Amino acid sequence: MEFEPVIGLEVHAQLKTKTKIFCSCSTAFGAPPNTHTCPVCLGMPGVLPVLNKKVVDYTLRMAVATHCRIARKSRFARKNYFYPDLPKGYQISQYELPIAQHGHVEIEINGRRQRIGITRIHMEEDAGKLGHDPDRPISMVDFNRTGVPLIEIVSEPDIRSPQAAGAYLRQLRAIVQYLDICDGNLEEGSFRCDANVSIRPKGTETLGTRTELKNLNSFKHVEKALQYEIERQKEILLDGDDVIQETRLWDPDKNKTTSMRGKEEAHDYRYFPDPDLLPLVIDDRWIEAVQASLPELPEQKKQRFINSYDLPSYDAGLLTSDRELADYFEECLRLFAHPKQVSNWIMGSLLGLLNAQGKTIHESPITARDLAQLLELIENGTISGKIAKSVFDEMAQSGKPPKTIVKEKGLVQITDTGAVDEIVSQVIADCPEEVEAYKNGKTKLMGFFVGQVMKATHGKANPKLVNEILRKKLDT
Ligand code: ADP
Ligand code: MG
Ligand code: ZN
Repeated sequence: MEFEPVIGLEVHAQLKTKTKIFCSCSTAFGAPPNTHTCPVCLGMPGVLPVLNKKVVDYTLRMAVATHCRIARKSRFARKNYFYPDLPKGYQISQYELPIAQHGHVEIEINGRRQRIGITRIHMEEDAGKLGHDPDRPISMVDFNRTGVPLIEIVSEPDIRSPQAAGAYLRQLRAIVQYLDICDGNLEEGSFRCDANVSIRPKGTETLGTRTELKNLNSFKHVEKALQYEIERQKEILLDGDDVIQETRLWDPDKNKTTSMRGKEEAHDYRYFPDPDLLPLVIDDRWIEAVQASLPELPEQKKQRFINSYDLPSYDAGLLTSDRELADYFEECLRLFAHPKQVSNWIMGSLLGLLNAQGKTIHESPITARDLAQLLELIENGTISGKIAKSVFDEMAQSGKPPKTIVKEKGLVQITDTGAVDEIVSQVIADCPEEVEAYKNGKTKLMGFFVGQVMKATHGKANPKLVNEILRKKLDT
């Protein structure tokens, strides 16, 4: 029997506001424990929360960007549970009246475009953070994160493969980064994902029993955990057993998921509208202002790159997956107007370099201006493509502009016919046996001769000129 995976993701994105969602405490990361706290976010009795307008503004940006229907009136609700990182004993969230519903994003898998539905987007507050002392039997709590604003983005169960789940997540992350509302860091937890997955016989409509996967803190983990879980569920069904609805934890060291809690242990949160907060009313003017302020989004930028720069869809998708990378590309283009060449160097050399150094494009040791200058040096014949690679490496090392490196190291291409002619003659004189063999029909040796000339000139001879002169001398 053939099975089809069904996947739905719940994503939490930490909003980049300066202050918390219901008080004026700072959201800055890395402060000494419990210094960004006040009676409101510590859950003292008798204090009242006041909604941060910026949080609503940021959430509206996301809602508009993902084509959601925005509720003119929504409510905050209390989600009740006990845990030491939650001083109030409840989390303020939204429940039956979320701010946004019924949206979608587009993804592309193997050249095929697909729409993934968004069930809802709502606002909520983050909890604190527990720390456990490895040497003593104590735990410590830091409430700096308590009350930091989050949006939760819940997808429809429209995703059909781990790869598509990865593509959807990358798309969502690109959108929040373009909107400048969240820094989108999975590793550091400012962008978190829980994955729900079930399987069903291919061709059927009814949803199977799902499990919910947690502890997924990189794109790779999301895809690997889903892959593992799909296989696990398949084996259960093929054995004639039933999948149990439960929450499972991904273990990245053992590459497997293990049961965390079953349905019976699932919480009953006893949601109810928060009596301390007024219903949130959003008028058309507010929505129109948000619409007017939206930047060009990843999908639009990608289409523009394809249309105006004649780039393949793959290049355009990669370059626009990160707004700063797209900006870098366009900055290069302003100085060196050959889109495909710029794209090749960014995708091949630059991203490889950044990857190896664990750097973002923002921290690139090579500026867009210098990369453009390097490509110009190739284009106008000053250096060969091969020398350019070593200049690139030197730029990465020293941060010097390419022109300086070329001048200091004397890398200017030899394009003087007389000079090349002289070196070619020397090579021919030094290799009488190869010349003989060549003349007897072993024409493949042309590569050898070119290599010898390049060696003699340390790669600086213009390859086209070398070939021309060699042919002239050997073929007559
Ligand atoms: P909960 O709040 O209990 O996690 P939701 O109904 O909000 O439940 O669903 C959470 C996520 O699970 C959504 O993204 C949804 O698309 C997905 N989902 C729901 N049912 C299934 C299923 N049978 N298989 C896969 N995903 C599912
Ligand atoms: Mg859930
Ligand atoms: Zn506070």
